[in-house]
Amino acid sequence: MAASLPESLQFLSVGATVLSGDDITDRYTSDWTFVNHCKPDAVLRPASTLELAAIMKACHQNHQPVVVQGGLTGLAGGATPSHGEVAVSLEKFNGIEEIDEFAMTMTVKAGTPLQTVQDAALAKGLVFPMDLGARGTATIGGNVSTNAGGVQVIRYGMTRALVMGLEVVLPDGTIITSLNKMLKNNAGYDLKHLFIGAEGTLGIVTRVVLRLFAKPKSRCTAVLAFNEFANSVELLRKIQADLTGLVNCYEVMWDCYFDNVAPTVKNFGKPFDESHGAYAILELCGNHQQRDSELLESFLAEQLESGIVADVVIAQNDTQADNLWSLRHGIGEFGSGRPLINYDVSIPIGDMDTFTRQILQQQQTTYPHITLLLFGHIGDSNLHVVIGDYKDGEFKPLKDWIHQLTGQFNGSISAEHGIGKLKTDYLPLSRSAEEIALMRLIKSTIDPHNILNRGRVINAT
Ligand SMILES: Cc1cc2nc3c(=O)[nH]c(=O)nc-3n(C[C@H](O)[C@H](O)[C@H](O)COP(=O)(O)OP(=O)(O)OC[C@H]3O[C@@H](n4cnc5c(N)ncnc54)[C@H](O)[C@@H]3O)c2cc1C
Repeated sequence: MAASLPESLQFLSVGATVLSGDDITDRYTSDWTFVNHCKPDAVLRPASTLELAAIMKACHQNHQPVVVQGGLTGLAGGATPSHGEVAVSLEKFNGIEEIDEFAMTMTVKAGTPLQTVQDAALAKGLVFPMDLGARGTATIGGNVSTNAGGVQVIRYGMTRALVMGLEVVLPDGTIITSLNKMLKNNAGYDLKHLFIGAEGTLGIVTRVVLRLFAKPKSRCTAVLAFNEFANSVELLRKIQADLTGLVNCYEVMWDCYFDNVAPTVKNFGKPFDESHGAYAILELCGNHQQRDSELLESFLAEQLESGIVADVVIAQNDTQADNLWSLRHGIGEFGSGRPLINYDVSIPIGDMDTFTRQILQQQQTTYPHITLLLFGHIGDSNLHVVIGDYKDGEFKPLKDWIHQLTGQFNGSISAEHGIGKLKTDYLPLSRSAEEIALMRLIKSTIDPHNILNRGRVINAT
C-alpha cells in the first residue's frame, strides 16, 4: 500500500494501491515493443476516478512525471516508462457499467479489455465493431488513446467514430465528465476529440461511452486474385459504389506477402493454381445470408468477366471463411521467432501503387537481401510494410527510408499505432510546423508542468 512508497514519493500517499521496489514486475517496464524498457519509480493502481484525480493533483503539485499504462500492447513505446516516471496503471479500473439497448451504447471503465467489451455487446445481440489481434489484453482506454483502427474501419470508422462520450482526469487532477450518449450534440466544442488519439499526453481516460451496432445476420467471405495491385484499387471503387453498407473488410496483400506467408499458414491451403500480382480478402456482412451471397457472387462474376479480377474463391461456410482469413492473420505465425520491423503508414490511395513500386524497386537495388511484405487495410489507405532478414546496422536506415518516402507522398507515418516515443523524430514528415506548434500550445496549456506522458507524440522543445 502507500506506506511502501520511497521517501521521495511520499507525497503520493493518497490511497491508491501502490507497487514499489521489487514488487514492480517486468510487466510494467515496457509495452509490447520491448524497446528501451525501464522500471518506473512506483506503480499506482487507482480503482476510482477520485483516487486517480488525487494522484494527478499530487503529481502536478510536485512536478512528478507520470506514464499511463493500459494493457501495454502498444507498438509505439508510449506506455514504456522513462527514467524518473511513476506509472499509473488502469488495471483495477475494469468493468462494464451499463449497456443502453435504446441508445445502443455501452459505458465502460477504461481498463476493461477490448474482448470483454466485444463479448458483452454480443451477449445483447449487438456488436462493438473495433477489433484487433491484441483484443484479449488491450484496454478500451488504450484503444481510445491510440484511436485504434483494425480490419473493419472501411465500414465503421476508427475508434474516434465509435466514442460517444468520455471521462478524463487532466494532468492537474481536474475531472472532466462528458459521458454523452447522443449522436447529435453540437453544444460547444466536442472536447472528447482532444483526448482520442492523444496517446495519454493530455489526460487519463477513465470512462468511455461506446457506440454499438446491430449484429449482422450474414457473412460472405471471398479471396480474390488480381493480375496487379492497381486492379485491386479499381475494384475498391466498384465495391464502394455497388456494395454500399455491406462491406466489412477489404484487405489487400501483394504477391510478396502471399508468396512468403501462405506456405507458413496451416489452414490456408492453395486456393489458386497460378501466382498473381496481388490478392484481397473481401467480406460482406448484411441481414440475409442467401441474398447477400447471391449479391457477392453476381458482383464477382461481373468483375471476372471484365478482367479486373483474375480469379476468385468464395467461402461456403464459416470454417472456410476463417481459413481464408488465416492468410491475413498468418503474419503472426510467419513472424514468430524472427525479428521483423513493422511500418504502419497511410498513403493517399491513388498514389499507393506508385509508392509501393518505388519501395519494391529500391529493395532490389539497395536491399536485395531483405524479406519485404506489403499488405494493408487498403480501403482505409493503410499500408503495412514489414521487413525481415535485415543486417546489423540497417534498422535506422530502413526506418528513415520508409518514413521519408511516406513524407514525400504526403502520407502519414502512423496510420494506426501512434507516434509514442519511437516516431517523434519523424512527426514533421507528416505534420506541418504550424500543426506541431498548435499541438505544443494545447499540451502546454493543459499540462503546464509537462508531467503526463512527457516526450510522447511531440518532442520536448
Ligand atoms: C497483435 C497486435 C495487433 C494490433 N493490431 C492493430 C490494428 O489492427 N489496428 C490498430 O489500430 N492497432 C493495432 N494494434 C495496436 C493497438 O491499437 C494498441 O496496442 C492498443 O490500442 C493499445 O491498448 P493498450 O491498452 O494495450 O494501451 P497501452 O499499450 O498500455 O498504451 C498505449 C498508449 O495509450 C496510452 N494510454 C493507455 N491507456 C490510457 C488511458 N486510459 N488514458 C490515457 N492514455 C492511455 C499509453 O500511455 C500509451 O501512450 C495492435 C497491437 C498488437 C499487439
